[in-house]
Amino acid sequence: MNEYFKSLKPLSEKSGRIIIAGPCSAESEEQVMATARALAAGGVRIFRAGVWKPRTMPGSFEGRGAEALPWLTRVKRETGMEIATEVATAEHVEAALSAGVDILWIGARTVANPFAVQEIADALAAATAKPTVLVKNPVSPDINLWIGALQRIYTSGVRSLGAVHRGFTEYYTPTPYRNEPHWRIPFELRRRVPQMPLLCDPSHIAGARALVPQVATRAIDMGFDGLIIESHCSPCDALSDASQQLPPEELIHLIKTLPESRTNATTELPLLEEMRCRLDLIDDEMLRLLATRMEISAEIGKFKKAHGMTALQPARYTSMVDKRLSDGAARGLGKDFLRGIWAAIHEESVRRQIDEMSK
Ligand code: PEP
Ligand code: MN
Repeated sequence: MNEYFKSLKPLSEKSGRIIIAGPCSAESEEQVMATARALAAGGVRIFRAGVWKPRTMPGSFEGRGAEALPWLTRVKRETGMEIATEVATAEHVEAALSAGVDILWIGARTVANPFAVQEIADALAAATAKPTVLVKNPVSPDINLWIGALQRIYTSGVRSLGAVHRGFTEYYTPTPYRNEPHWRIPFELRRRVPQMPLLCDPSHIAGARALVPQVATRAIDMGFDGLIIESHCSPCDALSDASQQLPPEELIHLIKTLPESRTNATTELPLLEEMRCRLDLIDDEMLRLLATRMEISAEIGKFKKAHGMTALQPARYTSMVDKRLSDGAARGLGKDFLRGIWAAIHEESVRRQIDEMSK
């Protein structure tokens, strides 16, 4: 896997956290310039704006298209910020590069389509000066599709490459977010490709202004390298994603109040090691208990076989899970967490019983 990403370059020349901010869409030259000036005055160094917007539903605002590119060029010229936009086709890549766009990102809907990603990769391979490219996670929680897209772009010769976590579409989101974060997926990306710069897009995860700061903070606490956040000079009038964009002053306040960057190093390592050692002991104990629990399940399987009973007893399952959820909640444990654990334990327990019954 890592053979693909051997010679990645850091995303920015200056070390430190990467902050990319700007509107969901470039709507007019005035809106772009007003937002850009306010962000630049607050210290933002990279400006984002969608020019071509792949929308879920037809009839939604699909961006101003190539007409908006000179507005971004003007932002670059007048504020000195780098400029970033979304591309979904080879034509977009060529137009954006000719307009001097520094950073291209591939959106979640496009990353889900390997043909589209390959078309973009081929256009990048043909470009003499390679831009920075950011690859959002695909809409579905499929880490291989995400890594596959990163590999296609890397193969085109792009070396300034990064991944963006923007949450995943769910039929039902148990959390208040627009797109379920599934934090373990970007965490797994970091585990598999530690050298890949990883940004978070708290705007598309949150879907609501009020939730953006907590998602952004969590990402920084987890060790993300930066953020791409939506900001609009008049969010309520935005033609896309009106509910999640922050006014520039709120965005600047958020950036200033984010926690310090985290590191992997500490001088208090023995203290951490001691706590990890306690976790290891607890995990050992849990494994011993789980093994014993499964032995009892096997006994129950023998009993059910002898008495002509079925392995699956829905009423018992429901009452057992309900009791675990309420007992666990009383101990401060989350119900979704407990439901997941007991679903897995019960599945394995039924498997053990069926093994016994089919002997
Ligand atoms: C965006 O960044 O405006 C956007 C459309 O994002 P995503 O592809 O994550 O939905
Ligand atoms: Mn958006």
